[in-house]
Amino acid sequence: MFPALETEVKQESLPDPYEDFMYHHLQYYGYFKGHRGSLPTSATHQHVWKNNPRYLLSGSFGERQGMVPDPLQKEKLLWPTCISSPVHRQIEAVSRDSLMLSSPLLKSRQLLHDEFGEVSPCLREPRDLFTFFSSSGPLQAPRWPIECEVIKENLHHIEWVPPQPEYFYQPTGNEKLPEIVGEEKGTVVFQLDSVPTGGSYFTSSRVGGKRGIIKELAVTLQGPEDKTLLFESRFESGNLQKAVRVDTYEYELTLRTDLYTNKHTQWFYFRVQNTRKDATYRFTIVNLLKPKSLYTIGMKPLMYSQLDAKTHNIGWRREGNEIRYYKNNRDDGQQAFYCLTWTIQFPHDQDTCFFAHFYPYTYTDLQCYLLSVANNPVQSRFCKLRTLCRSLAGNTVYLLTITNPSRTPQEAAAKKAVVLSARVHPGESNGSWIMKGFLDFILSNSPDAQLLRDIFVFKVVPMLNPDGVIVGNYRCSLAGRDLNRHYKTILKESFPCIWYTRNMIKRLLEEREVLLYCDFHGHSRKNNIFLYGCNNNDRKYWLHERVFPLMLSKNAPDKFSFHSCNFKVQKCKEGTGRVVMWRMGILNSYTMESTFGGSTLGNKRDTHFTTEDLKSLGYHVCDTLLDFCDPDRTKFMQCLTELKELLQQEIHKKFNELGQDMDLEGSWSDICLSDIESSTSGSDSSLSDGLPVHLLNVADELNQKKKMYKKKKKKLLQTRKQRNEQYQKNNWMQELKLTEDALKFRECQFFSDEK
Ligand SMILES: [Zn+2]
Repeated sequence: MFPALETEVKQESLPDPYEDFMYHHLQYYGYFKGHRGSLPTSATHQHVWKNNPRYLLSGSFGERQGMVPDPLQKEKLLWPTCISSPVHRQIEAVSRDSLMLSSPLLKSRQLLHDEFGEVSPCLREPRDLFTFFSSSGPLQAPRWPIECEVIKENLHHIEWVPPQPEYFYQPTGNEKLPEIVGEEKGTVVFQLDSVPTGGSYFTSSRVGGKRGIIKELAVTLQGPEDKTLLFESRFESGNLQKAVRVDTYEYELTLRTDLYTNKHTQWFYFRVQNTRKDATYRFTIVNLLKPKSLYTIGMKPLMYSQLDAKTHNIGWRREGNEIRYYKNNRDDGQQAFYCLTWTIQFPHDQDTCFFAHFYPYTYTDLQCYLLSVANNPVQSRFCKLRTLCRSLAGNTVYLLTITNPSRTPQEAAAKKAVVLSARVHPGESNGSWIMKGFLDFILSNSPDAQLLRDIFVFKVVPMLNPDGVIVGNYRCSLAGRDLNRHYKTILKESFPCIWYTRNMIKRLLEEREVLLYCDFHGHSRKNNIFLYGCNNNDRKYWLHERVFPLMLSKNAPDKFSFHSCNFKVQKCKEGTGRVVMWRMGILNSYTMESTFGGSTLGNKRDTHFTTEDLKSLGYHVCDTLLDFCDPDRTKFMQCLTELKELLQQEIHKKFNELGQDMDLEGSWSDICLSDIESSTSGSDSSLSDGLPVHLLNVADELNQKKKMYKKKKKKLLQTRKQRNEQYQKNNWMQELKLTEDALKFRECQFFSDEK
């Protein structure tokens, strides 16, 4: 791609095997290319986007007000004055021949120059990655859609593990089902304004969200005797749309749907102030959408008291009594909603408390963590932090490359890769805690961690959907869509986070074997932790995809359930990361589901998971990787034998159920596995939901034009006017080509809606 310079630099200037390895490895990811074109930053893009819908599909997206000035832009201008002329000539020569490089200036800023202007042999750290992470500099402030109000306060929760196990709630049978009265009979004490729902779409973002002074709360306290709770959710990952006071200590709560949709209420995270100690409060969330929930089998909400954190160092804990999850029987024929109700006694008067569906883990939490890694002189040597891309709102999606220096280029080349990611679904903060546990371990000086870094290259995308996490969505990105149904997308600008992840993995596969892909999720209906994998039909690898999950269940027997694992590739899951990566050639491609609740296994039976439990899973993944790759194949073969026995038992069971004898001799392994396994998928899924919301109108319009064009096709062309029309139509056809894939989605959606 850059033959002349590459050869020269390699032969003469990179004697260090690690530099040599990194050079070859990272060149796939823009290390030497400095792809800025992919990061839309300029107002020009916005202009094009507004005025020419053709660019909607390939051009940039969204206005980016308040973007921090890009140091690279300045560097680009300064660069030619400081490079030595032989190198310059060489680059010019190469760039004339190369289609890969649009500008020769981009590549060579990676070379260091000494004071005489000579090229020095070492490579500079990629600049744009560390501009956010200087020890003195601030973090990249989260960017919000401009409709979102955000309070100025910074929230922080301490990390804490309860000393005693937190048991599931045991229903008494006397739990009250409060009647939902609504705001007509109550008082609205908190309400978000102008929240974008279905029918609108994301246009632009800004640090700090909506401009100007944000709205005061709906109520002001009338004096010290006023017991009204003060609600707030306008902070990172916060979700509460409305609170209605229906009695002195009773509140009805409405959750905010995912932005630009009318769906996906589940994640909640809000603050209450002005608490009273000796009272029983009742909260009822009234607009949940899932018929089933872990709250029906003992899960309790999480509560955090700021005073307890300050004075007793106590953090998030499971709280609540009289917990019920039930259908709200509405008589107006509208959509059915589900309610979650619980009661609580606050620990202190005049306290600030928080409630959440699960332990929050925000974008800022991630950035603080990455900052500590970048500033750690040991960790930063084997963990390289990069920008994978920017999200729709312009937030950075981070990519970590973790591996030890190799002694020889051959050793470096022989390393296999492992890809891990989390938070494609923003409301599943479980994934972040597992990821944190993984990173804590792999970046540690434990001999096992060092060994893993010796034999693997880890590619980690710790937060795939930062926008969703920031705004407090449950499932979607700002395109109003579930990203984990769009991994096949060609719409790079609409789904940048997953487009770039897939592209990164594609390049990784060209370079080396990817032994394992795993995307961390949360599950709202089942307890324990388990994996979804993909059934391999190749006889050579028969049952191999089940070995890693089985080993994991042996290493974490009181948390991980092999029994709950599923290896089906369903049609509706074709767009998931798991299936797409599997089809790209990764045999061990998994979704890790970890419950919002707790365990039903072993010593942890009937207790909620803590953050420590989830973090330990990150460690168990590492531990299991070592078992899985052990040069002594005994464990692997034992697992395979066990899997065959398990399967045989399953087959026996099925045949018995059907009232047939089993007479298969040695050929039982030819049976299609998916016929045997339970057809009730344990999946926590939503179906593919079509084009990003901002493209729906465009697609409809283009479809119309396509139809019109087809009707007129047979007419003979004669006049200039007609030729002009033809020219116009050709343009339309080009547009259609661009949207073809997208239109297919649209059509699918259309038909599935019709049913
Ligand atoms: Zn998920």
